Amino acid sequence: MSETETKLVQLSPETAQKPLFGLDAPALAEVMAQSGEPAWRGRQLAEAMYRQRVAELDAITPFSKSLREKLAVEGFAVGRPRIAQVFKSIDGTERYLVETLKGDTVETVWMPEGDDGEAGDGSDADEAGKSWHRATICVSSQVGCAVNCRFCLTARLGLQRNLTAGEIAGQVVSVLDRHGVEVGRDRVNLVFMGMGEPFLNYESFMGAVKLLVEEAGLSPQRMTVSTSGIVPGIERFAQEPQTLRPKLAISLNAPNDEVRSGVMPINRKWPIESVMDAVRQVPLRARERVTFEYVLLGGVTDRPQDAREVARLVRRTGLAAKVNLIAWNPGPDVPYAMPRAGAVESFRQSLADEGIPVYLRKPRGRDIYAACGQLKRTVEG
Ligand code: SAH
Ligand code: SF4
Repeated sequence: MSETETKLVQLSPETAQKPLFGLDAPALAEVMAQSGEPAWRGRQLAEAMYRQRVAELDAITPFSKSLREKLAVEGFAVGRPRIAQVFKSIDGTERYLVETLKGDTVETVWMPEGDDGEAGDGSDADEAGKSWHRATICVSSQVGCAVNCRFCLTARLGLQRNLTAGEIAGQVVSVLDRHGVEVGRDRVNLVFMGMGEPFLNYESFMGAVKLLVEEAGLSPQRMTVSTSGIVPGIERFAQEPQTLRPKLAISLNAPNDEVRSGVMPINRKWPIESVMDAVRQVPLRARERVTFEYVLLGGVTDRPQDAREVARLVRRTGLAAKVNLIAWNPGPDVPYAMPRAGAVESFRQSLADEGIPVYLRKPRGRDIYAACGQLKRTVEG
């Protein structure tokens, strides 16, 4: 190859963007070995990207300038997705459009005091911290979603693509970096409840969890993955080792199959009982509970008889479980209504009276379009 040809290869956008972020330490060691470097440089690179949260090759200071340049010439870059836009709510919530190397965006949310979604599932404890005590980061797993729940704005986007493990973990590392979180000291929970269905992008989702646990040092017991009820995904999840497995939340959203199939057509494929059978295969830790997410849709799922039916349903599963109630967040052209005044509280009371542990998820950041998928649609039209 002539010198000019070599240059052209180096400058073409595809070869200029070989992201290192997303590879674990053994894979990074291999990259290093292929570049003629000792394999332990891979560990250094992992430390820099996932612990020190360095976002540029040039800032990886354990590496000499010539090594950094060599990697750049070979086409490598850190390639972590970046926070492209920030929307701040008066309640402290921050919502981000995170841009991938491909140039598309997903939503990630920072909730400085959480939204009470983790209450009662075995992870709550009090700790003094910074200006926040227990932040929660809400993470996306896909660009858009293929599941088509009738009440959800993300569904309107359709599935654009699966995110890679690096793009999922990168949302978290970017937000930890922005807020100067000290992993191991500060109390941060992750919820995989942003855009997309994690169990329809299983490999990348679990790949991201593995990176966040093994490389970034986060605890899987402070992570919750929410699924609309993808049975093969739940069965696979049940086989994951406890050292890696986040807690599980199921978007129940209805008291029975008939109503659920109306609001979540996926229920026709995997009805409630098949989901519960799969969930029962997950070996829970001491004090761990499965969460049932329940979106209250005015007049559809928020009636007193619905509450009684949900209580019976949850009790029948025999699972260590709790219910998280979420008042539906309205969105343009979504044919549902918010729950009537008082309906959320009476629903909560009714479940509590039946002895079901129940919590209200606080609506966070309404002023910055908090509903799932809303920001992307609002900003990008
Ligand atoms: N796809 C996964 C995870 C992302 S959705 C799932 O469905 O579980 C995360 C949660 O947000 C789900 O419990 C879903 O029911 C809920 N949700 C979606 N749209 C909503 C809206 N407009 N208002 C309130 N909750 C919503
Ligand atoms: Fe997808 Fe979850 Fe929205 Fe359903 S609720 S469309 S599974 S993101």
